[in-house]
Amino acid sequence: MSQRAYAGRLASRDQASRTGPSRDCEECRRGLRSCHLPRGSVNPLFDQLTCEARPDRLDSRPIHAEVLNLPKRDNPRVATLKEVISCTSDYDPDALPVAKANEVIRSFVHPVSGVEKLRVRAALGRVLAKEVVSPINVPSHDNSAMDGYAVRNDDLGAGEPVTLTEIGTAYAGREFTGEVRRGECVRVMTGAVMPKNTDTVIMQEAVNVEGKRVTIPAGQERGQNRRLAGEDLQKGKAALTAGRMLRPADIGLIASLGIGEVSVRRKLKVAFFSTGDELVSVGKKLKAGNVYDSNRYTLWGMLTRLGCESTDLGVVRDDPKELEAAFRKAAAVADAVVTSGGVSVGEADLTRQMMAKLGEVVFWKIAMRPGRPMAFGRIRARGRSAYLFGLPGNPVAVMVTFYHFVRGALLTMMGRTDADLPLLRAKSETAMRKKPGRTEYQRGILELKNGEWGVRLTGAQGSGILRSMSEANCFVVLGHDQGAINAGDYVEVMVMDGLV
Ligand code: AMP
Ligand code: MG
Repeated sequence: MSQRAYAGRLASRDQASRTGPSRDCEECRRGLRSCHLPRGSVNPLFDQLTCEARPDRLDSRPIHAEVLNLPKRDNPRVATLKEVISCTSDYDPDALPVAKANEVIRSFVHPVSGVEKLRVRAALGRVLAKEVVSPINVPSHDNSAMDGYAVRNDDLGAGEPVTLTEIGTAYAGREFTGEVRRGECVRVMTGAVMPKNTDTVIMQEAVNVEGKRVTIPAGQERGQNRRLAGEDLQKGKAALTAGRMLRPADIGLIASLGIGEVSVRRKLKVAFFSTGDELVSVGKKLKAGNVYDSNRYTLWGMLTRLGCESTDLGVVRDDPKELEAAFRKAAAVADAVVTSGGVSVGEADLTRQMMAKLGEVVFWKIAMRPGRPMAFGRIRARGRSAYLFGLPGNPVAVMVTFYHFVRGALLTMMGRTDADLPLLRAKSETAMRKKPGRTEYQRGILELKNGEWGVRLTGAQGSGILRSMSEANCFVVLGHDQGAINAGDYVEVMVMDGLV
């Protein structure tokens, strides 16, 4: 079925019946939620679309779910990972620079195509799926930017004051309906529609008033203190482009156009679990050699901050059967699966053999610190597929690899077009050892000192020392070719934008 035909089918189904679980949807069958797909509509191309509606709250309930009608070129045949990699120059899985790994990841992942229409407030933090075109001019009329007097600029003297007669008042929301003739002016409040024939506003503090006689000093400029119709947003032009995450200013802007509903991409579903025989969940007793599982907390936190709908699949033992079952379960319910542990040299073989059964997964040794080993690919189960990010087990390595690989990939899948993070320059307070040939993400504290940004490290930088992340407010990014840093050198820092 073509994408257009599929969209049409969804639309006509929407008119006919809008509710009820579908037997064709794996999640509905499993009682995870109720979606609105028609019977027999499962199409592997659109398998991400199987569940859209989540009527948790009336206000956030989608008004309507649809398939994003992408132009053909945006929806090519899905490339295999092998094909993507074959297009990547200098690809070496055993010494992969950070930028190359990101190049492969970003070329392989695609945005989900499910779209839902939400009321404006419910769309806060969601990704706009279609541009918002302004149906009106904002402001809709020329109006005053000040409390003062609206005048005809032609009446004003070039070099001397002029006295005009006040003939009425215009308020915001209550316009002056008369006509302003030569020698006349109108008292105006901020936001009031400019009275007919006037073009300039004199602020009230600048004039001298005696009864109805208003004296205006020389030196006024034509058009001053007047807001022009459409100067904020022009009718017919794009007010907001697709691919942006809607922030408070955006939802206010949409409201200023009188628009009550917007089309946003559906939420991304991400399943995650930890692997390791040594892991104990919070609430259980710690025996010798055990560690509490903290990765499921940091991962949950980061996924939640990103705006994903996450599913916690718990701790999975280092056992091929258990691992396979967990990966199958995850792939069946999510668009992406994020795991921690099981990809380090000693454990990768086990995971590698098992993964080969489920899909296409590559194992990388990335030229970075912390976070060298990582698995990436796509796995399939029960007719659905999910992107896989197999992160290392060390708690800092999990956060660093999530921040620098998974974050951008998930944002791309969400439809966001602004996935990159800015780097700032700061003066290093400390010397740092560093060898060229790998990227390092040291945890730092960025502070303004004597008008300049300075950065110092948080102390021990081991990849298991989670305290270094907790204390940090930035990463000091020491690039691939960078050598050692002396105190006083300038370094690049990446501010943690609230995600970690
Ligand atoms: P792995 O990558 O599985 O070899 O794990 C590397 C290190 O990270 C080991 O010391 C593990 O005990 C630790 N680790 C792995 N997973 C977790 C987790 N979920 N929470 C805390 N530490 C972990
Ligand atoms: Mg392990």
